[in-house]
Amino acid sequence: RVKAKWAASHPKHPPTQLALQHFDKTLSAQLGRLWPSVRVALLTEKKYGALLNNFSDPSVLKDLREQGCIDFISREDEETTSEEEHADVSQSKADDQPSLPFQLSTNISCLVFPRGDVTRFRPARPDTCGLLGYYLMDAASLLPCLALNVQEGHMVLDLCAAPGGKSLALLQTQCVRFLCLNDSSVSRTLRLKKVLHSYVPTELLSKEKLRVTSFDGTNWGEIENNTFDRVLVDVPCTTDRHSLEEDDNNIFSKSRVGERRGLPKLQVELLLAGIEAAVPGGEIVYSTCSLSQSQNQCVVEQAVHIAQEHGIQLQVVDLRPLRKRFENIFHFDPDLPLGEMVIPHLAANFGPIYMCKLKRLV
Ligand code: SAM
Repeated sequence: RVKAKWAASHPKHPPTQLALQHFDKTLSAQLGRLWPSVRVALLTEKKYGALLNNFSDPSVLKDLREQGCIDFISREDEETTSEEEHADVSQSKADDQPSLPFQLSTNISCLVFPRGDVTRFRPARPDTCGLLGYYLMDAASLLPCLALNVQEGHMVLDLCAAPGGKSLALLQTQCVRFLCLNDSSVSRTLRLKKVLHSYVPTELLSKEKLRVTSFDGTNWGEIENNTFDRVLVDVPCTTDRHSLEEDDNNIFSKSRVGERRGLPKLQVELLLAGIEAAVPGGEIVYSTCSLSQSQNQCVVEQAVHIAQEHGIQLQVVDLRPLRKRFENIFHFDPDLPLGEMVIPHLAANFGPIYMCKLKRLV
């Protein structure tokens, strides 16, 4: 029997434990009565969605449907949702204001197992051309892409793109004129390129259609301002769920305290760069996978304020129609003053995902 060398190699306070202590202090104050349920969900296995690859063999969709999955984006699958889900939808339509129209620009399909069903997806398999049929990701991560609402002919920038789930979703729309994918981490950019090659035909990855770079995104406004119709700013954050799951490379480790405390400043700088990169009339979506107010609403408020001081006027775009559209799939924070946030829930264990959409006026 081999004796594990615990004492020497294991920290007294593993980062996952430090993360939980931190969240117990900050998120219980922020989320109040919601926190105990969110906490249980965060500590429980997360649920995936399968982003369908429109470039691969279409039989995959039939196969996933036969396994009981539903495409939560297309209206087609709504008939197949449970009675309980229908009850939820009509309830949400009855209270509140009448539901506002929401235009989905899509072609994006994402399959999930129904509410409360925790079946795992099998790994995707390559088709005869070597392209994988679907990409497994947190289904709530697609909401920022849907909120971006890309339209035919758009120039789009994904400022912090690796490993590439959202970039892949943007490519699925097949309406982007030019997609610029950036991530400051060289190793993660390599992963992003691998993802692209596993899912997208080579002809769609040409220089005329797509560029992959590894720049510090905070300087983007200086490199290429007033250029993009849509900008996705999916910033580095405390990745709350991951920080509770994995000790390796954890932002709550003692050696990364400075980096963690510096996140809100970096997030503001990245959002400002994204705002500057957008054309007047262009739209920017800011997103994180953290529940923390200081990385979400506070960052948006600060960036909007600084942009205004530099002569850039912005308008917050109402995402309530998007929320209404997907309330039967995800749990949203019921009273967020700015933006929308999917909060983890045992029956629908997606998220956390925060998003806020801005329109650049001048
Ligand atoms: N959008 C990605 C996706 O859907 O797969 C996830 C992005 S992840 C939340 C944040 C990314 O920001 C990381 O890959 C990290 O390397 C990158 N990053 C960190 N600092 C950055 C900076 N200054 N400029 C650009 N990217 C940065």
